[in-house]
Amino acid sequence: MSNRFPAKELEELKKILSVPQMITITTHHRPDGDAMGSSLALYNYLIRKGHGVIVVTPSECPEFLSWLPGNDVVIDFEKREDAAMRTIAVSTLVFCLDFNWLSRLEKLEQPVRNSNAIKVLIDHHLEPEPAFDHAFSYTDACSTCELIYQFIDALGDKKMIDKNIAECIYTGIMTDTNSFRYATMRSETHRIIADLMDAGAENYKIHEYVYDTWLENRLRLLGYSLKEKLKVLTEYNTAYIALSQAELDMFNFKAGDTEGIVNYALSIKGVRLAALFTEREGEIKISFRSKDDFSVKDLSSKYFQGGGHKNASGGKSNESLDATVQKFLGILPHYQSQLAG
Ligand code: 5GP
Ligand code: MN
Repeated sequence: MSNRFPAKELEELKKILSVPQMITITTHHRPDGDAMGSSLALYNYLIRKGHGVIVVTPSECPEFLSWLPGNDVVIDFEKREDAAMRTIAVSTLVFCLDFNWLSRLEKLEQPVRNSNAIKVLIDHHLEPEPAFDHAFSYTDACSTCELIYQFIDALGDKKMIDKNIAECIYTGIMTDTNSFRYATMRSETHRIIADLMDAGAENYKIHEYVYDTWLENRLRLLGYSLKEKLKVLTEYNTAYIALSQAELDMFNFKAGDTEGIVNYALSIKGVRLAALFTEREGEIKISFRSKDDFSVKDLSSKYFQGGGHKNASGGKSNESLDATVQKFLGILPHYQSQLAG
């Protein structure tokens, strides 16, 4: 398979990694399957290479990813700030995975920004911040997990990909491609998946852990969102759902429970733009999805402090839920011709 990493940078990293290092791996706030999968794949690999490694997340990992090998020793900054700060303070290397602006670390941003450790970015989002000593940023990759596979391969260690590493990588590729169906899925990605299965990844088990372990509340929240909250604006080929904190509380909301809801809005025939607004801890989190050429990355970065990919982006708002939705509705006429498709 092709090696996308520049030889000189790879050699520098190889040299650094040829002696034991103290390494922190971190990823974005509200980590998803690719964030946790890539962090724990790299964790399991670097542990096997004899380094001291700790994964620090800015916020908690959703329950449906808790089975990932190594997740039991991850430090959640919100729960164990002191331990996280100590870890970063003694690190010689910090890997930043599946995000490209340090602001996506939220409260972890300053500790990482101020650290003297060598900072390495491995990511697939558009327009990275120039804050890294080594930046491996490839927007054509379907997931950061795909890049982790290629990174390990490029370091000459493909044979070290064991069942644990393979299952972590499989998870991120699966979740970021919505089960291998997005346009970002290339034939090479399918070949990587085959390699991961050969390395011991039990594909059916991973699908079950991630997609078929819902608590009843989560399913009822989905039902409520679709029956009561879904709004379809045919003139803009747009559908959206807005959920208040009180509504989430009715369903005993836990991290990850709204994952995937936005995809249902996008699945309506003719809909090219879908949005999910959720009110959490006084802030509105927004998920955008689109079909074809309509770029939700532009919309989210221009109006909602966000970013991501052309067809999958996120953002936030510090206004009320209602005001945020009104703002969104006010923006749509500007995009009417693009949305008409
Ligand atoms: P999701 O809607 O699943 O949370 O995120 C979709 C994509 O947008 C992911 O690639 C995610 O990393 C990115 N994203 C989500 N929220 C934000 C945000 O607040 N800021 C930026 N820059 N990207 C985001
Ligand atoms: Mn990703």
